[in-house]
Amino acid sequence: MIRATSAEAEETANLLNDLILRSQLLLENHPVNLKRAAAGKDKANSIWPWSPGYKPAMKTLLELYNLKSGSVISAVDLIRGIGVYAGLKVVEVEGITGLYNTNYEGKAQAAIEALRTDDFVYLHIEASDEAGHEGDVALKIKTIEYLDARVVKPILEEIVKWNEAVTIAILPDHPTPCATKTHTNKPVPFVIYRTGETPDNVQVYDEFAAEKGSYGLLKGMEFMKALIR
Ligand SMILES: [Zn+2]
Repeated sequence: MIRATSAEAEETANLLNDLILRSQLLLENHPVNLKRAAAGKDKANSIWPWSPGYKPAMKTLLELYNLKSGSVISAVDLIRGIGVYAGLKVVEVEGITGLYNTNYEGKAQAAIEALRTDDFVYLHIEASDEAGHEGDVALKIKTIEYLDARVVKPILEEIVKWNEAVTIAILPDHPTPCATKTHTNKPVPFVIYRTGETPDNVQVYDEFAAEKGSYGLLKGMEFMKALIR
């Protein structure tokens, strides 16, 4: 059984213990196990959760960059969790999937709404990463086109009408090349748009063009410092 090491972990420990006991009842006469028993094999008789995570001690984005409030919009639990630790509110959007068929328009609208009141909004779209893992070039291109037409476009069209200056950065968190179907740690292209700022000479958004951009190669925290100044 799982024993809580602090009072606040009690509830989670109880839930996990309940889950373990229920898994044993469920697995006892599960068809897979009956087949295994008939073949003289051991039954898989219980789940066994292990290796719990710990709450990281980290400064929030609000503390680091002197922001009043911020939001995170993502279908991916990992990103939502990091967002919570970073001091951001999690914005719920109907119909988001983390895949190519996600609710792009809903996410764009949620980001626009959050931008009306928050200093910072992190909008995450997982679709092209998943297409990269599948090694599906055509699907990956489609997801990037969707991102462009159904997320970036409506957000840009809206904020140019505002009296308030807005800064927008567009970038992947890492490459996921279709050729290798997994993440790499190569530098990623990014664009930073600021209301009223004269752009540099780069006219297209890709890895090769971005290398020639005015920001050059930024490492780690340098990007956020360039973004929020
Ligand atoms: Zn991935």
